[in-house]
Amino acid sequence: MMKIKVNENFAALKESYLFSEIGKRVRAYKEAHPEKKVIRLGIGDVTLPLAPVVVSAMEKAVKEMGVKETFRGYPPEYGHDFLREAISAYYKRKGVKVAAGDVFVSDGAKSDVGNIVDILGKNTVLIPSPVYPVYMDSNVMSGNKIELLEESEADGFLGSPCVLDGETYVIYICSPNNPTGATYDRAGLKEWVDYALESGSLIIFDSAYEAFIHGDYPHSIYEIEGAEKCAIEICSFSKTAGFTGTRCAWTVVPETLETESGFSLKKLWARRQATKFNGVSYPVQRGAEAALSEEGVKECAALVDYYMENARLISEALSEKGVWHTGGVCSPYIWLKCPNGLSGWEFFDLLLEKVQIVGTPGEGFGDAGSGYFRLTAFGSREDTMEAVNRLKTIL
Ligand code: PLP
Repeated sequence: MMKIKVNENFAALKESYLFSEIGKRVRAYKEAHPEKKVIRLGIGDVTLPLAPVVVSAMEKAVKEMGVKETFRGYPPEYGHDFLREAISAYYKRKGVKVAAGDVFVSDGAKSDVGNIVDILGKNTVLIPSPVYPVYMDSNVMSGNKIELLEESEADGFLGSPCVLDGETYVIYICSPNNPTGATYDRAGLKEWVDYALESGSLIIFDSAYEAFIHGDYPHSIYEIEGAEKCAIEICSFSKTAGFTGTRCAWTVVPETLETESGFSLKKLWARRQATKFNGVSYPVQRGAEAALSEEGVKECAALVDYYMENARLISEALSEKGVWHTGGVCSPYIWLKCPNGLSGWEFFDLLLEKVQIVGTPGEGFGDAGSGYFRLTAFGSREDTMEAVNRLKTIL
């Protein structure tokens, strides 16, 4: 028997049985009813292929890697300058000032969200609920003290700092939100920035779904005055450009983020990345750069538009049937209240049994998700239209 000690905080993690349980129930249903066509509206993964401009940039980069004169070894840990500059220019086109030197390229927003705890000490962490489970689990793994900010239909699943008492927190915000699709407007986000500045808190802002925003909502927390003194922003090419399988993301840690004891968060993150991360492959970074070019943004927007038309169709059907829901306007997620007081799992079984649609029970995103359900717009148009027609027959 080994005598080593392990990180016992892992024992405090809630069992993540959501997707395995969904898989189990779907398999059992299919075995019992092989003739029925099951439509999956539960996936949080993209389904459309990469934009042509991205593919040709990656092909060109792969060819360069096969030639002695243009071959490259380890990439810089913080990302190639060409991509950091392209990300800075992307912000600039949105009217936001982000210095290329404050951008850290990585292989995914999930990695950055999970790894950021490495540079933070024993703070109280404020996590909205329901939300993307990685915020919670990464802090549980570190043994951090966690407080939940429970959101509800009453606040449109957009928690506000008005319920807080001025305590210093590390605050996670995801806007547009996964799973609720709820999106902060400028005034809502400003409340958070003001709270963080007054209380000496840090905001970790996850903008993975910013490309889905339609309407006058902030795409970046740095659109809010003062955010450069209290916020780290994490964004991803995954949903914006279909990079879930290609892997590329970035984190902005502004030079201006300093603690009262004189630590620069940017220096800490730079040190952390240089020690534990060896960069993103050159062809992937060239693909990401192409996704942010003028042509790339247009081609990627067409992918987003396709999903958003699916979202519109789902949302329209729910409105027609008087089902309370958020999302679908600025996000590929639609978050609905289960009819007749059903729990998320009961509604899951009902949808599978009666109309062969698979979604995600809200319980999978925290207790505050009980009685709610997430549908996603990442399916094909054909499947989404069929699902919408089926949904209407039972709502
Ligand atoms: N942040 C949120 C809110 C997400 O929903 C996801 C993926 O579903 C991620 C981050 C992970 O993104 P990436 O694919 O860049 O790791």
